[in-house]
Amino acid sequence: MKVALITGVSGQDGAYLSKLLISKGYIVIGLTRSNHYINLDKLRYLNIDKRVTIDECDLLDLSAVINIITKYEPDEIYNLAAQSSVGLSFKQPIGTINFNIISVLNLLEAIRIVKNNARFYQASSSEMYGKVNILPITINTPMHPLSPYAISKASANWTVVNYREAYGLFACNGVLFNHESFLRTESFFVKKVISECVKNKDNDKWILSVGNIDIKRDFGYSPKYVEAMWLMLQHNTPEDFLICSGTSITLRSIIEYVFSKLNISLEKLSISSDLMRPTDIEDIYGDNTDATVKLGWKNDGDFFNILDILISEEIEYARQK
Ligand code: NDP
Repeated sequence: MKVALITGVSGQDGAYLSKLLISKGYIVIGLTRSNHYINLDKLRYLNIDKRVTIDECDLLDLSAVINIITKYEPDEIYNLAAQSSVGLSFKQPIGTINFNIISVLNLLEAIRIVKNNARFYQASSSEMYGKVNILPITINTPMHPLSPYAISKASANWTVVNYREAYGLFACNGVLFNHESFLRTESFFVKKVISECVKNKDNDKWILSVGNIDIKRDFGYSPKYVEAMWLMLQHNTPEDFLICSGTSITLRSIIEYVFSKLNISLEKLSISSDLMRPTDIEDIYGDNTDATVKLGWKNDGDFFNILDILISEEIEYARQK
């Protein structure tokens, strides 16, 4: 049986990737920063909390990372752990940049030192491209990061490329565009809109406060995007891939869709300058041709159909509670 090590296992993608790998017969080891604080709710929601071995590792401590890799001798390492919020990165730039870069460097250094043959996946982000003049984004589009988060992901991305080129590691970047699910953390836009709307649709006093909703993003579905992570590590050569839908939609269109599905008046919407970011990407979408042709990955299609799934899941969850 193959052994997969997943960092950030308690997050959205960590949960769906664990489920996928378990279904493929892998032994899944999930790393947490602390056994005392780990939140297994997402794994529990997918009914796989008993099937993932949880171990503790401070990814900022090289010797701890070396010990973990020596202990489990993984065939595949999926590095998903990160301070993953763009908004929070403006408030905590040093912590974000420190963790999101040094953790990646430690994992690659550990693989190199231990001479472990593990294939390495890095959770890269479309945010790295930032201010772009020509769309769609391709893997060769120059980067112009617009947030501390984007800077950290760009640096981590180039670290992976460097370890691949310098030491011949099977290391690759999955450059994922926004992807959502029921398991997304509440502070992220799509989850926030759906969960607040489902909880409060009959509450007269409730207002949905949002920032700039005229920006456009390329959205997809997490359970589908984690399939691409796995496919990248099964490919015959280590390469970087863009994983995206290929089109962008405004955040406003998402709110309008959810409001109309739940019969909520647009008068319930409030734009708050406190929720605007100092700098933001106006529009972004990518070209997924390489992932489709070389990996055989196929996106699920229309994001509004995915919104239907997310709304139903949220309603069902609220009903059961
Ligand atoms: P989540 O925020 O849901 O999960 C992040 C994970 O990282 C959690 O398990 C969290 O652990 C862990 N983590 C955060 N900070 C630290 C830290 N300082 N030390 C150790 N662990 C930490 O993110 P997603 O699952 O949505 O995303 C997975 C990866 O993909 C991330 O790297 C993200 O940046 C990247 N990405 C995500 C996109 C998206 O649209 N979802 C798009 C592009 C890239 P804990 O539970 O302890 O907080």
